[in-house]
This record gives sequence, C-alpha cells and structure tokens, in this order.
Amino acid sequence: MKNKSTDIADDMGSHHEQVAKYYLAAIVESSQDSIVTIDFNRIITTWNKAAEDLYGCKAGEVIGKSLEMVMLPRDFVALVENVASIRNDVTVPIYETVSLHKNGKQADLQIALSPVRDETGAVIGVSTIARDITEAKLDEQLKDEFIAVASHELKTPVTGIKAYTELLVDKFSHADDEVNLSLMTKLSRQVDRLAELIKALLDTTKLTAGEMLLQIERFDLASLIEEQVEHLQGTSPRHQLVVEGNKSIPVIADRKLIGQVITNLVSNGIKYSPEGGQIVVSSTRTDGGVRVDVKDLGVGIPEGLDHKIFERYFRVDAPLTSKTQGVGLGLYITAQIVRQHGGKISVDSEEGIGSTFSFTIPEIRINEVTSE
Ligand code: ADP
Repeated sequence: MKNKSTDIADDMGSHHEQVAKYYLAAIVESSQDSIVTIDFNRIITTWNKAAEDLYGCKAGEVIGKSLEMVMLPRDFVALVENVASIRNDVTVPIYETVSLHKNGKQADLQIALSPVRDETGAVIGVSTIARDITEAKLDEQLKDEFIAVASHELKTPVTGIKAYTELLVDKFSHADDEVNLSLMTKLSRQVDRLAELIKALLDTTKLTAGEMLLQIERFDLASLIEEQVEHLQGTSPRHQLVVEGNKSIPVIADRKLIGQVITNLVSNGIKYSPEGGQIVVSSTRTDGGVRVDVKDLGVGIPEGLDHKIFERYFRVDAPLTSKTQGVGLGLYITAQIVRQHGGKISVDSEEGIGSTFSFTIPEIRINEVTSE
C-alpha cells in the first residue's frame, strides 16, 4: 500500500503535467503554422486552428480521415516514404510541397516532420508542421525576374564597351602611347569584372529557373584542370598552384560548366588565402565516378557555416570578405552545376588553417547520354 506522502507527491506531479498540457495545447492552437498529427497510416489524429485556415476544413471534419485529402497526388509517394522513415526513427529533412485548400486554392508549404513518442520513447505517430511560404516564394520569384531582366539588359552595352576598349588598347599599343595604353588596360580589366558579375547574375537566374541545359560531351578532366590552373596561376604569382592525380581522367559532362566549377573553387582558394601559399587541385577516380578536391591554406570557414556558404548571396561576415570583391554567388552557381550533373559538393574547413572543397561527377553510362 502507498503511504500518504507519496500520494501527495504523485498528485503534485500529475497536476504539473496537466498544467504543462494546457500550456502546450494553447501554444499549438495559437501557432501561425499548421500543426497536424497523423498515425502511421497517415490518418489525422489532431488538427490545430492554423490547419483549419490553411486547408479550409474544421478539425471535426478531418480527424479520422487521411491526410492525403489535402495534398496533391504527386506528393503522396514522398509522404508515404517520409512517414516510413519517421516510424524507423530516421530524421526527415525539412522539405517543400504544395497543399490544397477546400476552395481549390493551392499553397506552397514548407514541411517539418517529426516523431510523436509515448512515455517509453516509442514512436507512435508523426507531427507535421506546415508553414505557408506562398507569399515568400512569389516575392523571391519577382526578385529573380527582376535580376534576370536587369542582367540581360546590362549584358549588351557592356559587351559593346568591351569591344571598343579592346580597339583602343590596340590603337594605343600600336601608337606606343604608354600612358593611355596603361589607362585603357585598367579600364579593360574593370569592364571584364563587370561582365563577370553580370554573367554570374544571369547564370544564377537561369539555374534557379532550371533553364541551364547541360551540353554533355566526353572529355579529359585532367587536361581541363591543367588548362584552368595554368590560366589562374597567371593571375596570382603569390600562390603556388599544384595539380595532383591521374594524367588522364575521361568523363562525360558539360566541359564548359565543369571548367567554371574548377575556376570558381580555385579562384576562391586564391581570394581567401591572402597570405599566399599552396593551392592543391587533386582528382581521384572513385567507385561511382570522379572526385576533385581543391585545398587551400587560407582563412577557412567559421564553424556552422559549411552549408550557408553555398546559398545565394551569402558571404561570411569577416574583415577579409569585405575587402574581397564578390557578391556571394560563386559557390551557389558552383553547387548548382555540380548538382545538375548528379554530383555532390562539400567543404571541410578549419578557421585559420584552410579549406578543402570537394565535388564529385558520377559515372554516366554511354547509352544514357542522348546527345552523343
Ligand atoms: P564570393 O566569393 O563572391 O563572396 P562565393 O559564393 O564564392 O562568393 O563564396 C561565399 C563565401 O564563402 C565567401 O564570401 C567567403 O566568405 C566564403 N568562402 C568561399 N570560398 C572560401 C575559401 N576557399 N576559404 C574561405 N572562405 C571561403
């Protein structure tokens, strides 16, 4: 038999638990995000106020029914897989999807799935938190369209200016006019920078809109690396660029874009190692294809920013970054090109020690390449 004091302690415990439940219920109910829980058969078990607004259905109408009634059919498979992962205690990363409102309207959602556990810790269901990102996506799209139009319009006059600059450089060089030649050469270099920036902006909008088509061909990656490195070595005598790896690595990919990836990574290596030093580009064959590493001994990347640096317009907030030219698009473009090839990109870095960027190009079987 229990004694009296344990009874009181039990009562107090259950009182606190009850109060905590009230608080939790109030938070769920007042959340701006839709919070819905489902069981492993995707049957809805709870449905908060924000879910009522988002999907246009009252809790009473949907509890006991399948979550699929508020989703587009194309997203079922992903949901089934994700619920199975949660059931097996595998974390599902945040993802985007589209929902259906009762009145036929669609909303873009960002979904976070997490396990619901019982007191023993066993997973008994899935909580789905959905954030409406329709407006944010529209804003983003408008911004992209503006950048696309602006950079497209800027391209033509800048190409013209470059052509005239070249003409003048030529003229002053033939006339042995050292002073004007030097001024014109500087002007020409600045025009190149402007053209590069416009190209980066244009590439970004194309990549975001999925409009960059790959021109697949067979080529030797080793000689592409040699070519790019030789050119970049000329731009920075303070750095020692070293190429390691096989002398010949046949790959099937977009030569121009992979060249851009190598250039971007090596020139970042140069930019972010102001003290100079070695930059090693090495390539290795792997089971599934090829891996390229670009290693520098530069400033490195602060902890926790490994993923952020691949986002659009992201630059590390550091004195060196503000002194270095750039807008934070290079790595975004680089990562998109690698992903478009079905490859992966990652970075291993330590602040003050250096960084190694690695990317892979997966093997493509010849008969899968249509444009050959
Ligand atoms: P940008 O160089 O134009 O700023 P990137 O997209 O190429 O843009 O790089 C994003 C940010 O990541 C840079 O601003 C810099 O802070 C950091 N970064 C990139 N490469 C390196 C590197 N090799 N070493 C240290 N930091 C780097």
